[in-house]
Amino acid sequence: MRPVDHEAPVYLYQLAVPGEDRYPSLALVNTRFTLSHGAVDLLDDTEAAHLWLVRHELLPDRVALNGRQSGRLLALREALRTLFEAYGDGRPPPAESLATVNSALAAAPSTPRLAWTADGPRRADEPDTGNPAAAALSLLAEDATDLLTGPEADQLTACAAQGCTRWFLRSHGARRWCTTKCGNRVRAARAYAAKRGRAGESGE
Ligand SMILES: [Zn+2]
Repeated sequence: MRPVDHEAPVYLYQLAVPGEDRYPSLALVNTRFTLSHGAVDLLDDTEAAHLWLVRHELLPDRVALNGRQSGRLLALREALRTLFEAYGDGRPPPAESLATVNSALAAAPSTPRLAWTADGPRRADEPDTGNPAAAALSLLAEDATDLLTGPEADQLTACAAQGCTRWFLRSHGARRWCTTKCGNRVRAARAYAAKRGRAGESGE
């Protein structure tokens, strides 16, 4: 585990959404969400986008990110969200979203490598070091491709809490909320509605 960065916004550590730790593409989609006080965008400027990529070990800290590259990251995020939604609805996504992901894949693909250590052979793909920002986007697009075509794809779920726009990987069939926080929010809202309903019936 990485040490907690005390300068980071506290909600980065409060909300462990299942699947984000294994799929950075899922984490990317979830960088835009809604809290009770309004919409949050963790990538709302180039510096924030740079920090996010570094934090997810997709970009070396010393490599700068420019506005155009950060714009591409946001475009990829929106395309991936559209793909997740299409997958959830069981329909093909718009061609444009698919094209955005495919151009990210093609821009700076990793080179397949066979590594061999004391533990034996393993696959160790090498990112394109000549174009680190594009390589980061390629890795994210590749990760989403693995997720959508892999055995865990059918666990991909949109949080059912109203206003929450996050996606997560369902660990068991019944789970409908990305975090316990969302689950509690829904239960509290239901209890409140039921209480109001009863108050209404008693002819207050
Ligand atoms: Zn949620």
